[in-house]
Amino acid sequence: MIVASPKSVTEVKQLIDRHKKVLFVGCGTCVTVCLAGGEREVGIAAYATRMARKLAGQPVELEQVTIERQCENEFIKDLAEPIERCEAVVSFGCGAGVQAIAERFPNKPVYAGLNTNFLGILEEQAVWTEKCMACGDCMLADFGGICPVTRCAKHMLNGPCGGSTTERCEVAEDKPCAWQLIYKRLSAIGQLDRLEKIQPPKNWGVAWCGGARKIVRNEHRV
Ligand code: SF4
Ligand code: SF4
Repeated sequence: MIVASPKSVTEVKQLIDRHKKVLFVGCGTCVTVCLAGGEREVGIAAYATRMARKLAGQPVELEQVTIERQCENEFIKDLAEPIERCEAVVSFGCGAGVQAIAERFPNKPVYAGLNTNFLGILEEQAVWTEKCMACGDCMLADFGGICPVTRCAKHMLNGPCGGSTTERCEVAEDKPCAWQLIYKRLSAIGQLDRLEKIQPPKNWGVAWCGGARKIVRNEHRV
């Protein structure tokens, strides 16, 4: 899922300091699951922002709504009426959600209430870790399902670098060496022979380096 984290109340207050009536919009999918931008978090952010503005002598009127997905027009269209009533929007969706709302309502300021962090998983209660950088050419099969693009600090595809100590990464000691994990995993599934393959230069042309990417699936078009 997309993992995000909330901006501070001070930041959110600054985002809307020129407005008197603002709509806070939550998203019911990834950011709800990672406890950053769902109905509950939007309620807390609205309460805290309202208090902060009141204490600053600049009261603000805040409306709140949470839609199922901010990245789909099908759900965004339900925002038309509340957005019409407000001067600006703070989206508590991921960066895609913020931009989707801004595109749909080009004459309304739309601000990001969250920091979008990464694609990851819930590792344990309240701990999320990054697992994928969406490189556009998934190589997990070669590495036992452990992504060196994301989890090796040097993004090495023909690792390890030789600097790891006691299985920890030399660049970030709080993290395991991705190549240690890859070795263990391939060993456990009886596929250590995969490490004999020299990985050719990766095709970064399908990754983020060439600007925003687009996928067209003609078989699903109508
Ligand atoms: S190889 Fe690319 S697509 Fe696959 S998990 Fe790693 S970053 Fe994500
Ligand atoms: S120690 Fe391991 S994870 Fe860290 S940079 Fe080297 S190979 Fe990558």
